[in-house]
Amino acid sequence: MNKKTKEIIDKLYTTSSLSEPEYLDLIEGRTGEAEEYLRSLAVSVRKKHYGNKVFIRGLIEISNYCKNDCLYCGIRRSNRMCDRYRLTKDDILSCADTGYALGFRTFVMQGGEDPYYTDETMCDIIAEIKRRYPECAVTLSLGERSRESYKRLFEAGADRYLLRHETADSNHYSSLHPKELTLENRIKCLHELKEIGFQTGCGFMVGSPYQTKENIAKDLKFIEEFSPEMCGIGPFIPHKDTPFRDFTAGDAELTCYLLSIVRLAVPTVLLPATTALGSILEGGRELGILSGANVVMPNLSPEDTREKYSLYNNKLSTGAESAEKLILLKEKIASIGYEIVTERGDAIRK
Ligand code: SAH
Repeated sequence: MNKKTKEIIDKLYTTSSLSEPEYLDLIEGRTGEAEEYLRSLAVSVRKKHYGNKVFIRGLIEISNYCKNDCLYCGIRRSNRMCDRYRLTKDDILSCADTGYALGFRTFVMQGGEDPYYTDETMCDIIAEIKRRYPECAVTLSLGERSRESYKRLFEAGADRYLLRHETADSNHYSSLHPKELTLENRIKCLHELKEIGFQTGCGFMVGSPYQTKENIAKDLKFIEEFSPEMCGIGPFIPHKDTPFRDFTAGDAELTCYLLSIVRLAVPTVLLPATTALGSILEGGRELGILSGANVVMPNLSPEDTREKYSLYNNKLSTGAESAEKLILLKEKIASIGYEIVTERGDAIRK
C-alpha cells in the first residue's frame, strides 16, 4: 500500500470524513494490503460500538408487483416473465408469527411499489404486528411515497425505512432508471424519512452498469454526509429478463472494501452483509461481516413466493439465507468469531 493511501485511511479512521477526491484516491489505491488494513480498522470500530454482535432481520417480501421500471430490477413492471404475487395481511402476520418464534425481533417488509398497499392497508398491518409484538421493530422498504404517507406509516408504528439512494450522481441515476424517476425525488424522500423520525437507510449497488469510480466516491461522500442509521451495499447482479442482462456482476472484494470504508465514515451504522453479496461469492456473507458489517437479513417470506421475488438471478433464499435455518447461520457466524443475537438492534443515536 502506498504512503498516500495509508494516510487517507488513517485520516478516515480518526475523523470519519474525507473529501470526494480522497474517497476516489482510496478506491483507486485499493490493493490487498489496503483492503486488509481498512478491514482491521473497520472491525475495531464496529467492535467498539457493537462488540461481536450480529443483528438479524426477518425479511418478508410482501409483493413483486411494481409500478416502476428500473432497468436493473427483475420485478420491473415491463418484465412479462415475472410471475406476480402479493401477500395478504394474514400471510404477512403468519410470517411474523413464524419469525417471532424463531427469535426475530425485527421484521422488514419489502416490496415493489405496489399501489395495492395503500396507507390504510399498510398502517393496519403495521399496527397489528406492533400489537402482537410490541417489543419488535418494524422496518419498511416500499420505495418512494409522499411525506404524508411516510408520516402515517411512522405513526402506525413503523420504526425504520430502507430506501437505497442507488447512486448519488444524477446522470448515472438516469442511466439506471426511467425518466419519471429522479435522484432529486429519491433524496427528498430520504430527508423526509429522517425528519419524520425513522431510522433511515440509504445505499447503492456496486458495479451497476455505467458506474465509474468517481460515482462511487460521490456515493461515499453522500453517505458520510447523510449519516444514515443503516446502509445497504451489495453487488449488482444481472437479471436475464431486464435490459441489463448482458452486464457483468459487481465485484465482491470491492463491495467488502466499500463496507469497510462506510464503517469508518459512519461508525455506528447498521450495515448488512447483503444477500446479493452472499449470492455472488461463497462465504460472501461472512466476508462482509469480517469487513465491518453487523447485520444479516434472512428470508422469512412464504417458501413458495421466494423464487418469485427475483430482483436478480441466482438470489440465495435457502440454507443459511432462510429464516428457518437460523441454526445454520448461527454456526457459520460463530465459526468466524461473531455472535447472532436476537435483540432488536436499534441504531445508536448520534
Ligand atoms: N421498491 C423498493 C425495494 C427495492 S428492492 C425500493 O424502491 O426501495 C431493494 C434493493 O434491491 C434495491 O434498492 C436495489 O438496490 C437492489 N436491487 C434491485 N435489483 C438488483 C440487481 N439486479 N442486483 C442487485 N441488487 C438489486
